[in-house]
Amino acid sequence: MTYKITLVPGDGTGPELAEVTAKVVEATGVKIEWEIAHAGVDIMEKEGTPLPESTLKSIAKNKVALKGPITTPIGTGFRSVNVAIRKELDLYSCLRPCKTYPGVKSKYSDIDLVVVRENTEDLYAGVEYPENSEEANKIIDISKGKIRKESAISIKPMSVFGCERIVRFAFDHAVKHNRKKVTAVTKANIMKCTDGLFYKVAREVAKEFEGKVEYEERLIDNMCMQLVQKPELYDVIVLPNLYGDILSDLCAGLVGGLGVAPGANHGKDCAVFEAVHGSAPKYKGLNKVNPTALILSAKLMLEYIGETDAAKRLEKAVSEVISEKKQVTYDLGGNAGTKEMGQAIIDKLK
Ligand code: NAD
Repeated sequence: MTYKITLVPGDGTGPELAEVTAKVVEATGVKIEWEIAHAGVDIMEKEGTPLPESTLKSIAKNKVALKGPITTPIGTGFRSVNVAIRKELDLYSCLRPCKTYPGVKSKYSDIDLVVVRENTEDLYAGVEYPENSEEANKIIDISKGKIRKESAISIKPMSVFGCERIVRFAFDHAVKHNRKKVTAVTKANIMKCTDGLFYKVAREVAKEFEGKVEYEERLIDNMCMQLVQKPELYDVIVLPNLYGDILSDLCAGLVGGLGVAPGANHGKDCAVFEAVHGSAPKYKGLNKVNPTALILSAKLMLEYIGETDAAKRLEKAVSEVISEKKQVTYDLGGNAGTKEMGQAIIDKLK
């Protein structure tokens, strides 16, 4: 069977990473017809938009995409392409596995956890009112003295629907991947309505998985300390948007940084796989950056389309190349280029 998958090379170092990753995926033997669709600063110069409608259509049609990083130009008036893709396709779940691979410099070993971040609600909803605006003043009035005059206000909306689908995603992921525990993380002792709702909904969902997946709760501040002290205790961690954003970077740091941190954005029937890191524009065209994060994102993609054996072989090949330390990029202590590291992984797959 041949899968049709959208490949968005992105910009900056994205195209060189995407090219190497596509070759590595092909070397697993899985047949893929890539539909190339562009987004980012390069296509903006040609087409006047960093996210052509045709790119969104391609992802929506094929339901699966592998995406290189995309720069968010500052001061052009264009919103982030990454955020726009997630919004347009309602990719509500941001999945970030964090695993220690022998050979990657890290203070920790034996970490194998997954961060599941809600992607559409919370303080990211973009409902904000500047100080002295009519809307802000109305809210200040309603607050009956709890909010100071001349405050700027950002609203934190969290719905039953939004909480339920992200927690359910985390439990389903745990079951599918044979994980034993889901930890829900909020600051519900302070934000009793919003974060309290997250817990309330999570407890209901957890009941359905009783006996199969353990459920526990942590407050975000305590969780940060716990992760630094005993990260090996955690398995699947599910969080609202803002805490998830911060904690997923913390977890990427625990396992050796951006060069090895993969990610996936899931919607109801559509998923976009991308590295956690950005476009690292200063290294554009230099064949320098580490392809591991995008290659491990492609491994998640292979699992998603049901090619679990190829995914396992791919991860094993990556792990071997990293632990041998011969053909690795600068960030892993080597002097191989993007292409050479990719080729070393391909050689392991033969
Ligand atoms: P970045 O992740 O691009 O780079 C920060 C630094 O991390 C780099 O200078 C480099 O030293 C290192 N690094 C990143 N990726 C690496 C890799 N694969 N191998 C080795 N080292 C690597 O972050 P930034 O400089 O803050 O962002 C650059 C642009 O990317 C910005 O416009 C930002 O908005 C965008 N961005 C895009 C995405 C995405 O496409 N999903 C994610 C984050 C940032």
